[in-house]
Amino acid sequence: MEDTIFMKIVRREIPAEIVYEDADTLAFLDVKPTTPGHTLVMPKKLAENIFDVEEKDLEAVMRTVRKIAPAVRDAVGAHGVHINSNHGEAAGQLVPHLHFHIIPRLSREEFSNWPQKNYLAGVAAEIAAKIRANLA
Ligand code: 5GP
Repeated sequence: MEDTIFMKIVRREIPAEIVYEDADTLAFLDVKPTTPGHTLVMPKKLAENIFDVEEKDLEAVMRTVRKIAPAVRDAVGAHGVHINSNHGEAAGQLVPHLHFHIIPRLSREEFSNWPQKNYLAGVAAEIAAKIRANLA
């Protein structure tokens, strides 16, 4: 699997504001924050995204997200955080190394929720049936 810019951060080949590290994960400030304190959490073992990551590596990442989210929130006096993750180019993933964004939010006024719409009749049932079939 190809190297990534984030592997260079793990190996300290490029600088980053690292805020937490353990045997399996690394957390560092996003170089272009959505809000101050915007932090990225990733596994040290390279996986591209949710479609190829091993469960144990994902579990380690989520433990780190849980551990540092309050520290990130409190460091900037935020009241909440978004925890986002993009998986695949179509979903806006730019760096092909699994990561979660922790984005502090001070107030509801700072952002708009994603646009939502209603299903046409029957479409939700059809899609849900396909998902269930894929899981069977
Ligand atoms: P994605 O769209 O893949 O979920 O987001 C990748 C994120 O990585 C972006 O928010 C971008 O600002 C951040 N990023 C890209 N390159 C670097 C880098 O070299 N250092 C740091 N700290 N963040 C980076």
